Amino acid sequence: MAIERTFSIIKPDATARQLTGAINAMIEKAGLRIVAQKRVRMTREQAETFYAVHRQRPFFAELVETMTSGPVVVQALEGENAIAAYRDLMGATDPAKAAPGTIRKVHAKSISENSVHGSDAAETAVKEIAQFFSGNEIVG
Ligand code: ATP
Ligand code: MG
Repeated sequence: MAIERTFSIIKPDATARQLTGAINAMIEKAGLRIVAQKRVRMTREQAETFYAVHRQRPFFAELVETMTSGPVVVQALEGENAIAAYRDLMGATDPAKAAPGTIRKVHAKSISENSVHGSDAAETAVKEIAQFFSGNEIVG
């Protein structure tokens, strides 16, 4: 199995409810290492760039609004098959459909306030990490 890095966001609905520590505990318990982390307020431009793939979707405006509504914690996570492992830990996009014990099942409020983001593929992970971190901010 390969050691990979993935990009994670603890979204505004979760930071608002003081869930950064609880979510980080779930991440670390799953064997993923938090190798970079910072709390930022995303600008509209950053959110639009980040979710550009969804620009034509009906929920795009709501998505950008939600992601810029409060502070987020951006992270790089490292571990064996980190991309798939973190997607498993996050659970389904819609928390009502998420498996028991997943971050979204335990903490998310709704499909738009679903507490966390995780990269969906190796290429997006590299791109997303580079949007928020420079090399010397990642310490494995
Ligand atoms: P993320 O990219 O945030 O990790 P995901 O990969 O599970 O989530 P995507 O299909 O990439 O899901 O959608 C990106 C985000 O857009 C979702 O996390 C969710 O917040 C929002 N979203 C997706 N579908 C809907 C919808 N039908 N209504 C409202 N918001 C939605
Ligand atoms: Mg996605």
